[in-house]
Amino acid sequence: MGSLPFTVSDLQTSTSGTRSSPTLLCTPLMGTTVDQMLIEMGKAKEIGSDVVEIRLDCLRNFNPRPDLQVLIERSPLPTLVTYRPIWEGGQYEGDETKRQDALRLAMELGADYIDVELEIAHDFNNSIYGKKPENFKVIVSSHNFHNTPSSEAIGNLVARIQATGADIVKIATTALDITDCARIFQIMVHSQVPTIGIVMGERGLISRLLSPKFGGYLTYGALEAGAISAPGQPTAKDLLDLYNFRLIGPDTRVYGIIGKPVGHSKSPLLFNAAFKSVGLNAVYVHFLVDDVKKFFDTYSSSDWAGCSCTIPHKEAALKCMNEIDPIAKKIGAINNIVRRSDGGLMAFNTDYIGAIAGIEDQLRGLNGTNPAAGSPLAGKLFVVLGAGGAGKSLAYGAAQKGARVVVANRTYERAKELADKVGGQAMTLAEVDNFHPEEGMVLANTTSVGMKPKIDETPISKQSLKHYCLVFDAIYTPKETRLLREARETGATIVYGTEMLIRQGFEQYKNFTGLPAPEELFRQLMEKHA
Ligand code: NAP
Repeated sequence: MGSLPFTVSDLQTSTSGTRSSPTLLCTPLMGTTVDQMLIEMGKAKEIGSDVVEIRLDCLRNFNPRPDLQVLIERSPLPTLVTYRPIWEGGQYEGDETKRQDALRLAMELGADYIDVELEIAHDFNNSIYGKKPENFKVIVSSHNFHNTPSSEAIGNLVARIQATGADIVKIATTALDITDCARIFQIMVHSQVPTIGIVMGERGLISRLLSPKFGGYLTYGALEAGAISAPGQPTAKDLLDLYNFRLIGPDTRVYGIIGKPVGHSKSPLLFNAAFKSVGLNAVYVHFLVDDVKKFFDTYSSSDWAGCSCTIPHKEAALKCMNEIDPIAKKIGAINNIVRRSDGGLMAFNTDYIGAIAGIEDQLRGLNGTNPAAGSPLAGKLFVVLGAGGAGKSLAYGAAQKGARVVVANRTYERAKELADKVGGQAMTLAEVDNFHPEEGMVLANTTSVGMKPKIDETPISKQSLKHYCLVFDAIYTPKETRLLREARETGATIVYGTEMLIRQGFEQYKNFTGLPAPEELFRQLMEKHA
């Protein structure tokens, strides 16, 4: 198919979690008392963070010398001390001299880093000139809570921060679109000084996840989902366990799922575990995308190796492709995109392959035929209930395998349109109960009838199920729908919607990597996280 094949150099020498980049993982401590912060630092160490950020502005009664002494001395991890004023998005409202005095004291008491805001950095750095302990570093930060400026404006900002004598530059902007992250990546890659680049907000998530790929000095990971210090911050645990943060480096290929919303997708869990299990230098992230064309135009290099595509982009993404698999084109929807070796994008629809492969395997078990004998669907009467996205996938897939397709839909016109395209017969859903020209037919429900919460509903009477040898239901919430339960009771073989879901994942993995999918691992993870 011409996609970029993985080579030996893409395989990491270890699958045990060895670091691929020096990017640090810093966990902000947001406790309101010193005792709370001490507990939090222990947890941060346990999770695997490298640094803790002591947010002095979160403390309710802060007593600089004794509190800093305890917090710095008792920290099991290197410390970054921040005392963020309200005018830069923090909580401190008091006297500015006292604030800066506390930061200087933190330096004297052995903090590893302090974070000072660009507005005061010049004077502050002058005040500590010649007094900085060895290995102590000043991070000079700038926060923009409105947007992400142009590359030129960010470049100028970096220069201003550097001119203050910063050891480390920190720029935090706000994502209005996922493509805003590209400008921060560009800055991090080209910066001559260590740089922390963060794009805040849920559309900026990849700026945090991919920090090690683009040479970021540090990224922030929260202790818990509800304890974030800035919008869009992931948890340290997710960075480490879900996204394999330690394995990400400059050459890591980036995959992901584009959608809106997309945060609920379990695909990163499956693909990252799969990549790690075979030592592939790749990561799979959530891409919250508003404008598909802008996304593909921006992330167009070979680093961005492919993606899965979900609602609402399955149709819009078609227009951005250089090549479309012929069946995906007929179905009119894609869910799997791979960057070819020439940089172009090739799209597939793996939904239909997943469902059809699941049905074929069960039929083979039923008939005792082997895969070499051709598709057991050839010549079968295959009744598809529904004519939406899933209906199209099943109808085209079955027709391609030589089945005689019947499409039954609540709205007859949609059934007719799809049936005509696949050379099949159309009817209304109401007519299906009395349709049994022969025995041993295959039934595939792709309507949402019976889906949670309306689990007592079913699209076809139990009585008529006796004419079918196999019943498939695309619905996977619940796993066993009323339709499948009644089909089983009637003696038909059943195929769960989860089979379609998981097998389409196998196909995507194969298209992405050119390797067979670790099927057992996928199944175990699906079972565990369903
Ligand atoms: P869709 O494009 O919106 O199509 C929905 C279909 O259901 C249409 O044919 C619609 O008929 C029919 N329908 C909806 N409500 C109905 C009702 N009350 N009575 C009769 N028919 C009704 O949705 P889709 O993307 O195809 O998804 C359909 C189902 O498949 C969902 O349950 C989804 O979760 C599942 N699915 C599963 C997988 C998987 O991997 N297992 C993948 C994709 C989808 P009209 O044309 O008359 O509106």
